[in-house]
Amino acid sequence: MKALAKLERRKGAVGVIDMDEPEYGPNEVQIKIQAAAVCGSDLHAYEFLPGYQTPAETKIPVILGHEWSGVIAATGRSVAGFKVGERVMGESIQFCGVCDLCRKGRTNICSKFTLTGRHVDGAMAGYFKIDPRYLHRIPEGLSFEEASTAQPLAVSLHAVIDNCAIAPGDTVLVFGPGVIGLGAAQAARLLGATMVVIAGLARDEKVRLPTARKLGFATLNADSNDVATDFHRLTGSHKADVVIDCSGDSLSIPRGLELTARGGHMTIVGISAGPASVFYTPVVRNEIQLHTTFNATWSNYDQALRLMASKQIDMQTLISSHSLGEAIGVFDAALECDLVKPVLCPA
Ligand SMILES: [Zn+2]
Ligand SMILES: [Zn+2]
Repeated sequence: MKALAKLERRKGAVGVIDMDEPEYGPNEVQIKIQAAAVCGSDLHAYEFLPGYQTPAETKIPVILGHEWSGVIAATGRSVAGFKVGERVMGESIQFCGVCDLCRKGRTNICSKFTLTGRHVDGAMAGYFKIDPRYLHRIPEGLSFEEASTAQPLAVSLHAVIDNCAIAPGDTVLVFGPGVIGLGAAQAARLLGATMVVIAGLARDEKVRLPTARKLGFATLNADSNDVATDFHRLTGSHKADVVIDCSGDSLSIPRGLELTARGGHMTIVGISAGPASVFYTPVVRNEIQLHTTFNATWSNYDQALRLMASKQIDMQTLISSHSLGEAIGVFDAALECDLVKPVLCPA
């Protein structure tokens, strides 16, 4: 089979190679991959950023890709509950299932997880093997491409539904118009926010902010000297009831807190490379609730699939489809911010 792998411990060194199909065990299923979406972390592996340089952190060579969908091609002899031919997608974190956090249902912060496409081979390949406990069935009518984006959408839903406090009529400001931000903004609207504004940088004017506007959101430039004035001009409010940071820029945290209304909420989704500096006194005096959120639970994946299938959340507008052979060009274009959510189709 063809597979897209990180081949060596250096910048670049990603390519399509020929490999044997994975050997699935008695408790695993073999998936024929139909779509594998490109995530920022696949791009980090391509660029070989510091997080990827520790041997303990990354298996190399490793097949990339943890946002995938496909059809069950075979099942191990001990597998029950799933059969050949079913359309499925899977969770990106292979939680251990036995640590205290897993047993409390908090599998998203499992203390002993395995990351698909990093610690073990991923899904940018013809075939992929996995324990069926990480699978979700794809509802009828939902394409494989869309289903492959249920993973990042589940992250947005975990942030907005589980770790935020949006009330009907709220004004919401989202920093970062990437896939997570565009999913979070749509979820906020679904929960009844009447005004949702998405802030991005100059490079986001290429495709991400235009996509946000296509989805019906107002947008503003997060780099402007006067974000507060721009926000007021757009919304009629000086501050947002809820701010959600999906940018991963440590500057958005103090900036976001300044733009959160008294008694409001801020949720941090983005992971920044460095520390953020915050003067907490006004945050305390205004009783602003600060939340963090990481990955997604079982329920969020199911919510993601159902909300896409019922057309209440649109990920299709974000997607561009490409063959596996086009991967390097696609990675370069994604790094240049020329694509919102590229999806590779290995078939
Ligand atoms: Zn991802
Ligand atoms: Zn665990």
